[in-house]
Amino acid sequence: MAQLDGQVALVTGAGRGIGRTIALQLAREGADIAVTDINEDWAQETARDITDIGRKSIANCTDVGDYDQVQALTAQSVATLGKIDILVNNAGISKARPFLELTKEEWEAQLRVHMSGTFYCSQAAARDMSRRGYGRIICISSVAALMGPIDLAAYGAAKAGVAGLVRAMALELADHGITANAVAPGPIDTELLRSAWPKEVYEERANHIPAQRLGIVDEIAHAVAFFASPESGYISGTILPVDGGSVAAGAYMVEKYRRRKANGGAS
Ligand code: NDP
Repeated sequence: MAQLDGQVALVTGAGRGIGRTIALQLAREGADIAVTDINEDWAQETARDITDIGRKSIANCTDVGDYDQVQALTAQSVATLGKIDILVNNAGISKARPFLELTKEEWEAQLRVHMSGTFYCSQAAARDMSRRGYGRIICISSVAALMGPIDLAAYGAAKAGVAGLVRAMALELADHGITANAVAPGPIDTELLRSAWPKEVYEERANHIPAQRLGIVDEIAHAVAFFASPESGYISGTILPVDGGSVAAGAYMVEKYRRRKANGGAS
């Protein structure tokens, strides 16, 4: 028996990238999936692929930053699939902009999607989870929440806000049998990364990662699947970097990179 048999997961931003891979992974582990994305065609494509692997799925078009749409999303998920056991707050946006040039609109857009979106979805899902005394909330934060990001002030602040919300939910929802955790990816090879930075910038960043490469979507999906499992029940309020060792290395990796360059490639 797959470990998520009989469970229902709601995954936001699941039309492409990390969210789509998470949705497919949770389905392979046995869960039925409510797929939601701001792009309806992509959501439908992911839902079709989940049906193909033998699980129930619905596709829904929701902007997670819109409170009323989120209420409708969770109501539809419960009405169609019966309940929500697992919520993955994955929907996100990113745009690099130097701090002095950051506009009010860009700042507000980041807080809206990441912080308000995570709050709206988590509260609505937790209300359903609390009826059965069981739930798993997993948020996708970022290493930008744990280290000072360059040109990503709004994004880093919003992702740090998500981490704060995770800790608060871990505390307040424990009595309801609900855990809340976050995965904090380093740079992962997706469209979001490619649209935020020129190719030479994100390829150069791999040199500052101890693993010496960008991450791949499956590596995030496996971490999320662990937090989604019944076996993770004694873990709550953690922010898990999945980053090839970047947070652990901090500024030392910059020094190692400099030395490697000076030594013509040898460490
Ligand atoms: P993608 O852009 O590939 O996927 C994100 C999905 O979320 C897109 O389909 C996007 O639609 C959708 N989305 C955007 N805004 C909303 C909204 N308001 N409501 C619902 N859906 C929305 O990004 P990734 O897969 O790379 O990122 C997934 C998550 O991982 C994000 O939270 C991101 O911040 C986080 N992350 C990613 C990293 C990376 O290097 N890739 C690193 C650290 C964290 P559309 O494209 O139409 O906007």
